[in-house]
Amino acid sequence: MSTATLTIDLDALVANWRALDARNSGETAAVVKADAYGLGMAPVARALMRAGARQFFVAVAEEGAGLREILGDSVTIHVFSGHMPGDADMIGDCALVPMLNSVEQLIRHAEALPGAPFGIQLDTGMNRLGMEPAEWQAVREIALAQSPALIMSHLACADEPDHPMNARQLAAFRAMTDGLGIPRSLANTGAVLLGPDYHFDLARPGIGVYGGAPFGDARPVVTLDIPVIQCRDLEPGESVGYGCDFVASRPTRIATVAAGYADGILRAMGPRTSLWAEDTPCPIAGRISMDLIGVDVTGLDHDPGSLRLLGAQQGIDDLADNAGTIGYEILTSLGARHARRHIGG
Ligand SMILES: *Cc1c(COP(=O)(O)O)cnc(C)c1O
Repeated sequence: MSTATLTIDLDALVANWRALDARNSGETAAVVKADAYGLGMAPVARALMRAGARQFFVAVAEEGAGLREILGDSVTIHVFSGHMPGDADMIGDCALVPMLNSVEQLIRHAEALPGAPFGIQLDTGMNRLGMEPAEWQAVREIALAQSPALIMSHLACADEPDHPMNARQLAAFRAMTDGLGIPRSLANTGAVLLGPDYHFDLARPGIGVYGGAPFGDARPVVTLDIPVIQCRDLEPGESVGYGCDFVASRPTRIATVAAGYADGILRAMGPRTSLWAEDTPCPIAGRISMDLIGVDVTGLDHDPGSLRLLGAQQGIDDLADNAGTIGYEILTSLGARHARRHIGG
């Protein structure tokens, strides 16, 4: 095996979804946009459906059409981007539920697919998607007359429990939706953890299901082992890699592994990151190259066959911290570029 394999533990993934479901007072959906955060839409969605998920969210209609093929007719598939020009056939044929974001989308949907189900997305302060309060006020009666299946909004700061924005958005959401008698959805992973005030009828966790912060109790889902191509000895004063960023201060053994930033291993994480040989951390030596990484394995008593970048010792949020990013970006950058192996489920 000359390339790294991303292993995805579907049992851990299902356990995370169940753990979030246990904390959520309403129904729990699953967000599987971006190829299930890079981990593979088909195996992930099938495992979650077997676990009991009946409602799914994707970013765009194309993803929804793919998911419908995978899961069949028994689940509800919501589309965050709503009803975009050209989407009518996909939405109609695949029975997708667009979360309509504007009056324009509301009209487009009613004209193209009269009577077809839809949801409404409201903006409560994130200013990304959804109708503004005044816009909602203006079209509310017309929209309600067509019986929306769901009304949703999204929190900007749910991963920061003490942020005042959470309570502000909750109040705005209530003001726009209280008493309508339509099922409501506000919570992503972070908001499930904020408590029952935020749960409403349907929660939409993503990152926590995939093992990431802010779900601190999540089980790690992904493992990444990278094959070692060769090992060599360095004298003190010799350097490793581009720019000679690493210079040996003692006799040093360097392993070169077969992956790099072209494989989604963000170059910025290099200086603070180790690869692991079982329980021993082996620091990255020098800059991460496109397809190769030098690793200081001086501390090992043998040359390893492979080294582990992601696993129990070092998770997606550790790598994210090292690279100055978030676990979401670690998952989507790795998942898109590696052979994936799904276990369990
Ligand atoms: C991605 C997304 C989610 C899932 O959020 P997580 O933080 O991954 O749990 C929920 N709702 C919307 C609108 C999203 O875009």
